[in-house]
Amino acid sequence: MLKVTSIDKGLVIDHIPQGEGIKIFHFLNLDKVKYRVALLMNVPSEKMGWKDIIKIENEISMNLDILSIINDKITINIIEAGKIIKKYHPAIPKVINQIKCKNPRCVTSVENIQNQFNLINKKTKEYSCQYCEEIIKLNTL
Ligand SMILES: [Zn+2]
Repeated sequence: MLKVTSIDKGLVIDHIPQGEGIKIFHFLNLDKVKYRVALLMNVPSEKMGWKDIIKIENEISMNLDILSIINDKITINIIEAGKIIKKYHPAIPKVINQIKCKNPRCVTSVENIQNQFNLINKKTKEYSCQYCEEIIKLNTL
């Protein structure tokens, strides 16, 4: 088994469904950062068969609940001094503002306004744009 304790301080995103790690990696812009990051793909997992893991040797200020869009069984481990100090699963966020509205007539597509999507159905992961009420179903980032 791979040891998550191979980093001293940061976080480990574990139990990512196979093939989804790369999407999260890009979504978090980890290909552009200056600290150590690792994307491990196709790691054997007892529970899942295969999984991806991301290790980040830095603090991430961003709310990672959005990762529940991919899978709510993803585990986020917070590491300090080489030990896991906190472990949690991302919860479906009530509000999302890290994604863009796909409606070309939406005011957020025309003007540079911070958009916001509000959760309208937790089960189907449907969100509604605050500005144009376009409904989007999120199952991938
Ligand atoms: Zn919109």
